[in-house]
Amino acid sequence: TTAEEWRVFNRSRVYMADLESSLYYSLRVEVGTHITISGEPLSALKAYITVLVKYFPGRPVVMKLLHSLESWLKSHDDPELKYTALERVLDNEVQTPDAALPNAERWVSCQGSKPCFRGYPCSVWTLFHLLTVQAAHSTYTPAPDPLEVLQAILRYIKHFFSCSYCAKHFEDMVAGSMSQVDSLPSSVLWLWSKHNIVNERLAGDASEDPKFPKVLWPPPDLCPQCHDELKGKHDWKMDRILEFLKVYFSPDRILQDYLE
Ligand code: FAD
Repeated sequence: TTAEEWRVFNRSRVYMADLESSLYYSLRVEVGTHITISGEPLSALKAYITVLVKYFPGRPVVMKLLHSLESWLKSHDDPELKYTALERVLDNEVQTPDAALPNAERWVSCQGSKPCFRGYPCSVWTLFHLLTVQAAHSTYTPAPDPLEVLQAILRYIKHFFSCSYCAKHFEDMVAGSMSQVDSLPSSVLWLWSKHNIVNERLAGDASEDPKFPKVLWPPPDLCPQCHDELKGKHDWKMDRILEFLKVYFSPDRILQDYLE
């Protein structure tokens, strides 16, 4: 992104343009690097699409495409899938009415001060948090399995996330601890806390955008009520964080600016 193209945005809001761009990048670029997909990566891809269909609060046109992709994957029982075949569904060559996926990336709140910073990794974190929050507030009966979204995320990262070093690091970090998640609210907080561990590790790293320094999130200016002090030490107010995340990632607060 050059200085002229900079899109003015509100740092305390989620933008649909970033979320749709994360879908573009994950499905067309990351999944697209696999000529064929089979075995565990194929079932990981199916699980990822299923949670997107269930919990992504997308525009109707995007949701129709995701539904069409899910049905196509379900009906496809060959043990091996060619990406070129999947791509035809992404391009809606199957002609589902009023269905489309974005065919370009457009970063808004995930813009970096240089092209090497932010963008996709920022948007995919946003997407993942949104999915955990939506699952926790879904009206499905019976209530979703608290691990459904987290497992889909972890399997996606393991098999498709293009930063394989990041994927390995993440897998090692979370190994074992997911079994402590026993409720939908704890799945939301689990991902929030893991992301903060990553933020802490990467603060000051060469990958950090100097215009967007890594902080323990949400910082006090965004959520004063989330912070407390206990015996002179910083303490998070978990119930307030849950409330904050519910509002921050609520579908009706997602801004629709800069969409095509
Ligand atoms: P991000 O950390 O990408 O966050 C995006 C947005 O999410 C923030 O702007 C903020 O609004 C919100 N947010 C921040 N923290 C939280 C939180 N705790 N809970 C909820 N929302 C939050 N990069 C590396 O260089 N090395 C790695 O090992 C590495 N591992 C990664 C592992 C995973 C699974 C992922 C998805 C990414 C990884 N990355 C890694 C990328 C890195 O975490 C950042 O995504 C990237 O540096 C861009 O940072 P950012 O400033 O845009 O904010």
